[in-house]
Amino acid sequence: MRLLLVEDEKSLACALETILSDKGCLVDTVYDGKEALKAAREGGYDAIVLDLMLPKEDGFSVLKKIRKRGDFTPILILSAKSEVEDRIHGLDYGADDYLTKPFDPQELWARIRAMTRRQARLPDSILSAGNTVLNRSTHELSSKHGNYILSNKEYRMMELLMIHQARMVTLERFREVVWAGEDKVDSSVIWTYISYLRKKLKALDSNLTIVAIRNTGYSLEVGDDA
Ligand code: CA
Repeated sequence: MRLLLVEDEKSLACALETILSDKGCLVDTVYDGKEALKAAREGGYDAIVLDLMLPKEDGFSVLKKIRKRGDFTPILILSAKSEVEDRIHGLDYGADDYLTKPFDPQELWARIRAMTRRQARLPDSILSAGNTVLNRSTHELSSKHGNYILSNKEYRMMELLMIHQARMVTLERFREVVWAGEDKVDSSVIWTYISYLRKKLKALDSNLTIVAIRNTGYSLEVGDDA
């Protein structure tokens, strides 16, 4: 599971990063609201743990902006504010859960799991572009002409491309998301997986094309006939 942790209190951020990494999560930590928005825009996170009192831009504002973009990544708010109004605000603005500091890290982990399980069952776990659909729960890529269950790496790549439709996904971003924790993967390996996806799209008679952009990345383009 890939998690974005937004927490400006360095010692807490560090402790949470350790605990969540031990659970097998890949954790990216950022320390202010602006960085949080930037990281969330890159996409590919299964969940976001968001502190409320943050430098540069507060958690409520970050939450509202993420939802306004149409990004429904599960978000758990973490805050010292225990007042009822804050909880209500957070949930109204589109947070999925709320945990008040201090908390037991085991409870945080249990809530993250529950939140991501719920997300997997929601209908918006479907990504679509052109005449093609990617199911985020079953990893099935389909069109009216057929379907494929994608391998884990193919799925992660397709998901990134669909989230960033018509915008470039850099080779670096593929390495971070798809080959996280592995040694620097050669661009020819990325190309190989792109070619698997291209073959599947072709077999599905998809109107999506994966376009190579110089030697820096790929983007997903939608063709005319849908
Ligand atoms: Ca804080």
